[in-house]
Amino acid sequence: MDLNLNAQEEAFRDRVRDWLAHNRPVALHQRGVVDGKTWVQRAKEWQRKLYEAGYLALSWPKEYGGQALDPMRQAIVSEELMRANVPGVIGSNAISMLGPTLITWGTEEQKRRYLPKILTAEEIWCQGYSEPGAGSDLASLRTRAELDGDEFVVNGQKVWTSGAHIADMMFGLVRTNPDAPKHKGISYLLIDMKSPGITVRPLVQMNGEADFCEVFFDNVRVPRANLVGELNEGWKVANTTMVHERNWLGSSPQRLFDKLMERARDLRRGGIALTSHQLYRHRLAEMQIDVEAMRLHSLRLLSNAIHKRPGGVENMVAKLVGTELHHRMALTAMEMLGDYGTLGRGEPSALDRGVWSATWFGSIARMFGGGTSEIQKNVIAERGLGMPRSR
Ligand SMILES: Cc1cc2nc3c(=O)[nH]c(=O)nc-3n(C[C@H](O)[C@H](O)[C@H](O)COP(=O)(O)OP(=O)(O)OC[C@H]3O[C@@H](n4cnc5c(N)ncnc54)[C@H](O)[C@@H]3O)c2cc1C
Repeated sequence: MDLNLNAQEEAFRDRVRDWLAHNRPVALHQRGVVDGKTWVQRAKEWQRKLYEAGYLALSWPKEYGGQALDPMRQAIVSEELMRANVPGVIGSNAISMLGPTLITWGTEEQKRRYLPKILTAEEIWCQGYSEPGAGSDLASLRTRAELDGDEFVVNGQKVWTSGAHIADMMFGLVRTNPDAPKHKGISYLLIDMKSPGITVRPLVQMNGEADFCEVFFDNVRVPRANLVGELNEGWKVANTTMVHERNWLGSSPQRLFDKLMERARDLRRGGIALTSHQLYRHRLAEMQIDVEAMRLHSLRLLSNAIHKRPGGVENMVAKLVGTELHHRMALTAMEMLGDYGTLGRGEPSALDRGVWSATWFGSIARMFGGGTSEIQKNVIAERGLGMPRSR
C-alpha cells in the first residue's frame, strides 16, 4: 500500500509542525517546583494543551473526546512530536493502554465517565497487574476481590506499580474465583486510589528516583459498576491492554539515536570526533540500520491499523527489538562518555543535564516493563514461528 502523504496529509503535518514550534512546554525536564508549579501540574498542563490543540488520541470516537480520524493522522502527529523532541504526556499509559481497552470492553457509562478525563489529564492512572510472585507468570496473581452486595472487597498487594504515588485511579487485575483454573478466575477492575484501605509505598530505584510503588489493599471497597468485561473473564480484557502496551513501549528509538549522534559528533578521542572513529562509526552505522528497520516495521503496524487487521506478534517484535536497541544505544553512550557517564541529573559537570545515566538505568527497566525480553521471545517463538512450547 502507498504510505506516502497526500496533499491534505502534508498540509496537516505542516500545521502540527508549526503548532509545536510555537508551543514548546517550559521546564518539563526539571522535577522540582518551577514558577510555583510542581512537575505533575506542569506535565498535566502540557497534556491538556496538546489535547485542546487536537493532537491526542485522534482516532478515538468523537463522543468520548476523540476525533474519529484515521490512524494515518495519529501517525503523523506521533512522528512530529518525536521530530520536535517535546516531552511525552503524563497520561500516556492510560491514553495508550486503558483507553483502547475501555473502547473495546467498557460499558457505555464507563466510556463516558472515564475516557474524556484520561485525555484532559484530570485523572491520572496506574496499572495494577504485577504482584510479588506474579510478574512474568501474571495469571498467578493472588490479590483477592470478593463480592459483597454491589461492591467488591479487595485485599492483597501489587508491586512495581508505575506512578501509583501520583495516580487518581488504577486499572488492575484481581482474583474473583480462586477455585477456577488460574486464567479463568481473574477480573478487571477500575479502582479509585483515594479509597480507604489503600496504602501506596514508593520504591527507591538504583538511580535514586522513586517512580514506582508497592500498593497494599486492606478491605478496599470497589463498586461493582467498575468491573470491565464479565466477572472472571478479566484475562481477555487484560490481554487487550497488553497488546496496546506493547505497541506503546515498542515506539521507535529514533529520537535517542539522534541525540546519540549529536553527542558522538561533539566528543573526541585522541583529537578525533567519535563519528570518525573506526569502532564507533561501525557501531553507530549498525544502530542506524536497526532504527531504519524499526521505522519500516512501524509502517507495517500502521498498515495493519489502517486495514483494521488485529495485531499479532508484530507488536511483540516491536517491543522486543525497540527496547533492546534502546539499551544498546544507552550502553554505547555510556562508553562514549567515559567518566561523565556516571554523572546524573543535577550534577554541575554532567553533560546533557545528566540524561545519559538516567537513560542507561531506564533502558534496563524498559526490557522488563510490559513483559521481559525472554517472555517476548518465548511468545514470538511459539505463536509467531510455531515452535514447541518452552517448559
Ligand atoms: C520500569 C518498570 C515499570 C513497571 N511498571 C509496572 C506497572 O506500572 N504495573 C505493573 O503491573 N507492573 C509493572 N512492572 C512490572 C513488570 O511487568 C515485571 O517486572 C515483569 O513482568 C517481570 O516480572 P518480575 O519482575 O516479577 O520478574 P520475574 O517474572 O520473576 O522474572 C525474573 C527473570 O526470569 C525470566 N523468566 C521468567 N519466566 C521465564 C520463562 N518462562 N522463560 C524464560 N525466562 C523467564 C524473566 O525474563 C526475568 O529475566 C514494571 C517493571 C519495570 C521494570
